[in-house]
Amino acid sequence: MKIVYSDKHAAHDPQTFFVRGVNRPAAEQPERAERLLGAATEAGHKVVAPRGHGSAPAATIHTPEYLDFLQTAARDWAQLANASAEVLPNVHPSRYPATYPKILVGRAGWHQTDLACPIGPGTWDAALAASEVAATTADLVLEGAREAYALCRPPGHHAYADMAGGFCYLNNTAIAAQRLRSKHQRVAILDVDVHHGNGTQGIFYERADVLTVSIHADPVFFYPYVWGYAHERGAGAGLGANLNIPLPKGTGDDDYIKALADAEKTIRAFAPGALVVALGLDASERDPLAGLAVTTEGFRRIGAAIARLGLPTVLVQEGGYLSDILGANLTAALGGFEEAR
Ligand SMILES: [Zn+2]
Repeated sequence: MKIVYSDKHAAHDPQTFFVRGVNRPAAEQPERAERLLGAATEAGHKVVAPRGHGSAPAATIHTPEYLDFLQTAARDWAQLANASAEVLPNVHPSRYPATYPKILVGRAGWHQTDLACPIGPGTWDAALAASEVAATTADLVLEGAREAYALCRPPGHHAYADMAGGFCYLNNTAIAAQRLRSKHQRVAILDVDVHHGNGTQGIFYERADVLTVSIHADPVFFYPYVWGYAHERGAGAGLGANLNIPLPKGTGDDDYIKALADAEKTIRAFAPGALVVALGLDASERDPLAGLAVTTEGFRRIGAAIARLGLPTVLVQEGGYLSDILGANLTAALGGFEEAR
């Protein structure tokens, strides 16, 4: 299948990732995309460049203040006395009624929900390119391709309309889904990343036209901890259009496939015109984040099961961290998908 890819992702090379208060090397490294690209190319998929959409696709999902913040934060942060190399918040104001701050340190707190989304000098360019990759991939499907894959980096599914988090800045999956809405009345999103797609859920929570389904490691023990529970079903017009399937630590292929069958049932009942798959590969048994235990063969089965939904499909790369089988897991998922079409 066609793969949309931009090498601009490499401009984003985060140096900060706090785990239990300790600053550790960031898991979301440029090498991830290089390995995924290498594996996909070797498997015979055709790589194409994104179209120059600029920030228009991102603006269909994200607020103007947030886009302005992402675009200017690193530059303005560098002017502050004794500032770190990357923008990181030291206030966390989001849970109670509050006033949008003018000063950059306050805006960082407003727009960055955790310490896993540092903003460096190249973050905006990379995130913008990833959003163009997602939009272009959606365009290919709108123009008649049955499926296409967006090799996005940085990932996007933890990003809300006005908030970065968990290695994510612009929600590529949501941007692709919104683009598909130009042609399809109803669009479904299936998130198979090991983490709950909290940003995507938040963006569409009150909407009836976009179904959000996420299968993930249970937030009782795994990031994002405060979202991703089964009782979160949507609100207002969107009540019933959100499904969370949390899984116990170490869940393997067979139980994963059973959960996926429940997801498929919900998607079929919604009768969408098109599908976006938030294709994280971090449910792998060898992923360093160690939440679930899906094998490479399991990813092939997951790809095949999703393909059998028979929908025009945009596959968007989300998480999946460095291991010796990262590339193999991608080619298994894409291969399983193509074989079942
Ligand atoms: Zn993830």
